[in-house]
Amino acid sequence: MKVCVFCQENVDGKNAIPVKEDRIIRIIRKVKKALNIAQLNELYVCEDDLKKHKERRKTFEKSMLFASVLAGVIVLIMIGALVLSGRFDIGALVSAFIIGAFVLILPIFRYAPALESDVPQKVYSASGLRLCAGSDIPMQTNPAKTRIATAPEKKTGRKKRKDGVK
Ligand SMILES: [Zn+2]
Repeated sequence: MKVCVFCQENVDGKNAIPVKEDRIIRIIRKVKKALNIAQLNELYVCEDDLKKHKERRKTFEKSMLFASVLAGVIVLIMIGALVLSGRFDIGALVSAFIIGAFVLILPIFRYAPALESDVPQKVYSASGLRLCAGSDIPMQTNPAKTRIATAPEKKTGRKKRKDGVK
């Protein structure tokens, strides 16, 4: 199934952006497989959750950056203290790196995956794709045409939402 990572809803037939499969997602999938709770969903972010997702992604990127700087500083200070103390202690060196690694892992709790693109596009279910290929719907064969066809629709949709909410 194709689901939105935000609202967990099926995105078939909706406008959505696929999530980039990064290392963290692959690890999560492996863990789930090992625990036998894998759902094998394809991950998307739907158009409605795009703004919220982008904010979350920004926060995650910032905390990632902050954590790596902090981890580096902590390791450097601890190694510096070791050097200054004049005795080389392998245990202290190892714990410096363990603390650094721990700080580096912390932002995972705010994890928000990267997206394949910036523009939401209509998602077709696997069966829908097959139907389109057999019929005379030109959208699947010409990506440029798809963009032109969906562009005005998106504009009015956005306008409508703005007027409706605010
Ligand atoms: Zn959603």
